[in-house]
Amino acid sequence: MAIFMMLKKILDTGMVSEMPVPTDLPACHDEQLLQSRICEVFGRAVAIRHVDTGSCNACELEINALSGPHYNIEGVGVTFVASPRHADVLLVTGPVTRHMESALMAAWEAMPAPKWVVAVGDCTGHDSLFGENYAVHGKLAEILPVNVMVTGCPPSPANILRGILACFQGTMTIKHVD
Ligand code: SF4
Repeated sequence: MAIFMMLKKILDTGMVSEMPVPTDLPACHDEQLLQSRICEVFGRAVAIRHVDTGSCNACELEINALSGPHYNIEGVGVTFVASPRHADVLLVTGPVTRHMESALMAAWEAMPAPKWVVAVGDCTGHDSLFGENYAVHGKLAEILPVNVMVTGCPPSPANILRGILACFQGTMTIKHVD
């Protein structure tokens, strides 16, 4: 039964990375505008620390697509870093398994202020496939101050990029990108 559910999910979702790059994304259509906004908010580049708290890895595939030539976010100053001490934005995927909760909190505490949290995928919010149980904490917003919630299972790279760019608006209320 599980295999049929998985096949249905694959067929329903398709290849979200293959969608044309939307025209409203400044990263792909107006690099100077994006770079000037990054400089306004972050000073130089945006450094992102990604933490997978137990995802199925489909969200990671869409995040990886952002670094390719199609979206080219590294070309305009949005970079992924290995250490949270160098990061401005914490990008979180997965349903926050209890096994990863302490590592997630350690990454958040190591980041210098000001800092932002972008939750990627339905697993981090109310529509998680995994729910809450002995192994899964569930909603990310209950343990970290989420700034932007990017919904989808998985979300498209374009929406993940919209979520990262939404940090530039600077408010501390949760914005939804879907
Ligand atoms: S939101 Fe969907 S695609 Fe992303 S990790 Fe969860 S189950 Fe996988």
